[in-house]
Amino acid sequence: MTADVRPLSGPARDGATGVEARAAYDLSREDLAALLVDEPPFRVHQVWDGLHRRALRPAEMTDLPGPLRARLEEVLRPALATATRREADGGDTVKWLWALADGSRVETVLMTYPDRVTVCVSTQAGCAMGCTFCATGQAGFRRHLRTGEIVEQVVAAVREARPRRLSHVVFMGMGEPLANYDRTWAAVERLHGDLGLSARHLTLSTVGLVSGIRRLAGEALPVNLAVSLHAARDDLRDRLVPLNRRYPLAALSAACADYVAASGRRLSLEWALIGGVNDQTRDVEELAAFARPLRAHVNLIPLNPTPGYAVRGTPRAGVAAFARALGDRGVNATVRATRGRDIDAACGQLAASDAPRAAGQVAVTAPGDRAARAAGAVAGARKVR
Ligand code: SF4
Repeated sequence: MTADVRPLSGPARDGATGVEARAAYDLSREDLAALLVDEPPFRVHQVWDGLHRRALRPAEMTDLPGPLRARLEEVLRPALATATRREADGGDTVKWLWALADGSRVETVLMTYPDRVTVCVSTQAGCAMGCTFCATGQAGFRRHLRTGEIVEQVVAAVREARPRRLSHVVFMGMGEPLANYDRTWAAVERLHGDLGLSARHLTLSTVGLVSGIRRLAGEALPVNLAVSLHAARDDLRDRLVPLNRRYPLAALSAACADYVAASGRRLSLEWALIGGVNDQTRDVEELAAFARPLRAHVNLIPLNPTPGYAVRGTPRAGVAAFARALGDRGVNATVRATRGRDIDAACGQLAASDAPRAAGQVAVTAPGDRAARAAGAVAGARKVR
């Protein structure tokens, strides 16, 4: 991208600055250096640090000379425009539906807990994996998000979380992160290196893309891996998660074992409890048999209702019994607290409630219009993947 970046002080191309506006987080450090080539060298670090570690808009970088600040504010634009922003849980959950420049929409959820502040980010507009219970999967795939679009979601969460410090990032929003591997991994590296987030607090989730898990095992940065399992026998998983036909459970288990050995990190298995589908004694047995050799921790998630999947989540008592049954079989399990039931906080559900379209394929309208159309739908907490 560097060759495409003109110095801020260069000849006029368009607008008052003479430089094309671009999404701030799409620029690499080298791009920024090209933009600021006529400034003292230390400005590059100053602006990069301001954008990332300090999560500032250029206009807020008061340590810059006023004219430079104003020009940067004009040139370095946000990629994410707020289509809808909603709060729940007394303000402890905030969910955004972002409108991107091409009309795509993606979601980000910020969840504040007493001991941590977590943001759940999207990596694709829509998703091609087609999981039957998932609002995003039901709506189809539009495109991969760019690294800058992923990073900017985290920066927005950092700003929103203040004065608390954002501590954790989970890649469990719209999309399959490992299907957008290069851009997602570049975002991971930037969150670690430039925003200062610990690798221990970064969690990549996958619905079981074995080729991606194997690539991940070769990375130097040991992030957490969460596998959205939902079924531990192939015939059922084939139906819930179509990717299982390509990567059946035996291949998935082997890749997970290799990742755990390479990274030293604990694996977590996500299990959305679907009443009468995967919450029976047989399912406990199969899940325990899958999890035990991997020493995996299981997160149980009551299924969120989605428009295209009529089956409901397991009742609360059944969820608790399922967790106890796993414990009896030597597997640690946590029941996820649901968040944001009144704001469509599950994957794809704000988008699904928002307009007559496939996810990621919407016309841009006024924010108030979108908010009005989005109002009233009901959903569950974090994304079920
Ligand atoms: S659950 Fe995840 S992988 Fe499956 S369709 Fe939804 S976003 Fe895609």
